[in-house]
Amino acid sequence: MDYNSILRKIKVELSAQKYQGEVASYIPELLSVSPDKFGMHLCCLHSGTYGFGDHEEQFSIQSISKVFGLTFAMSLMGDRLFQRVDVEPSGDAFNSLTLLEYENGIPRNPFINSGALLVSDVLTSYLENPKEDFLKFIHEITGDDTIQINKAVFESEKTHGDRNMALLHLMKSFGNIKNDVDRVLELYIYQCSITMSCQQLAKAFAVFANKGVTLDGKKILSPVHTKRVNAIMQTCGFYDEAGEFSFRVGLPGKSGVGGGIVAVHPGQYAVSVWSPPLNPKGNSELGMYALERLTSLTESSIF
Ligand code: GLN
Repeated sequence: MDYNSILRKIKVELSAQKYQGEVASYIPELLSVSPDKFGMHLCCLHSGTYGFGDHEEQFSIQSISKVFGLTFAMSLMGDRLFQRVDVEPSGDAFNSLTLLEYENGIPRNPFINSGALLVSDVLTSYLENPKEDFLKFIHEITGDDTIQINKAVFESEKTHGDRNMALLHLMKSFGNIKNDVDRVLELYIYQCSITMSCQQLAKAFAVFANKGVTLDGKKILSPVHTKRVNAIMQTCGFYDEAGEFSFRVGLPGKSGVGGGIVAVHPGQYAVSVWSPPLNPKGNSELGMYALERLTSLTESSIF
């Protein structure tokens, strides 16, 4: 496959695209990022890496961190995790409270905020120093110990955490949150404020294309658990747009309100894109377009 020329074509097509999305503003610090940023990086298991644009510039990974949280929690407690969080698509916005009330405080899946907060609660119970240990896990999965959080984004979200706090209290009222809600929220906001580039994200997600083993040969998850993470990305990675992403791109993936998206072609590659303007569902508009073009031009997806 001539990925070089395919990415070159996508770059040209992107420059002709008009977008209507808007950069996330409910976490004020995210607004300081230029809407014109665009990066794309493809990390193949057997045929090299390719990238263009701002693919080496770090940005706030936000909800992409939910995949790392889930992976870390599964590596600690395996399938028992799913006694406390379900694996069904929600069809609701990422920060919705609605289903939790009907479903007795059991989040629909680990990739909506309620589910990711539940995972943060699990990690808070298991880890001695949850924030430091989470960052160490990121260093292990990326093979890069320079990765840090953006402190301004962390502080900014801390002052706008009411909705996530409401989700935590609601789950706690059903007995499904075991720790102090402030501590759990702190870990969640911390993981969301990690900054990574498309290049670093694609390398990290190569684990999910490679049956749970990093490109440096470190075993992070079993093949069965890797299958589960990919399946949840496929069905729940884009909130109430998971069907649309599947339809257009045809790969498991995960988005974040920082404008990043990572997608995985099991056995072949992981790819990451970054463009801050979001569509009304909170997913990067141009990012989705670029990924759709990738699987169309390569004529290859999981379907
Ligand atoms: N930190 C953000 C929040 O909780 C993450 C949301 C997202 O990226 N979809 O609202």
